[in-house]
Amino acid sequence: MPQPKDRIPEKKRRGLVLVLTGDGKGKTTSCLGMAVRAVGYGMKVVMIQFIKGSLHYGELDGAKRLAPEFELIPMGKGFVGIMGDALPFYVHADAAREALAAARERMLSGKYDIVILDEVNVAVRLRLLDLEDVLSLVREKPENVHLILSGRGAHEEVLRLAHLVTEMRSVKHPFEIGIEAEKGIDY
Ligand code: ATP
Ligand code: MG
Repeated sequence: MPQPKDRIPEKKRRGLVLVLTGDGKGKTTSCLGMAVRAVGYGMKVVMIQFIKGSLHYGELDGAKRLAPEFELIPMGKGFVGIMGDALPFYVHADAAREALAAARERMLSGKYDIVILDEVNVAVRLRLLDLEDVLSLVREKPENVHLILSGRGAHEEVLRLAHLVTEMRSVKHPFEIGIEAEKGIDY
């Protein structure tokens, strides 16, 4: 069990804004990796997922093993405009706005050390969210909270507010030779 002395004193912590973007694999799994790492110190982590929410992924059950320190909350409605999506655009947009409001509330609650917005960059790019609303949330981040924004195609303005930006670059992906998504690796 983590001891109180192992916790990073909150007044000393400088909360960072981290952005994981690019078209290579590893953005969401990097978020999950940081959650595993932080839970090891007894830190509280919440990961809100945009767009995702209609399919099952291994991390939904993996996250339960890290409860109550780690909460993973899918708040999307699935693929937008592709893969047989039959939902009107406004349904996706309403879900994304609700997810952003939920993230903001948790970020400001004082109960979390790390707040992760998974696929939020994609939600902005698809115009499910107003860029300005995401920028406002980043600017409102309490000093001691780490905020992580993932998803390909992050907006330039989001990058400008970040302390760390990593762009995953695909060099090779099995998808290119017809190998489909793999359990435990991709989902
Ligand atoms: P992961 O969840 O594995 O960390 P990711 O978050 O970086 O991936 P997303 O853009 O969210 O990637 O896409 C999710 C899915 O798309 C994953 O199953 C991933 O393997 C797959 N994927 C990622 N990069 C590529 C690529 N360059 N070509 C094809 N599929 C990809
Ligand atoms: Mg992802």
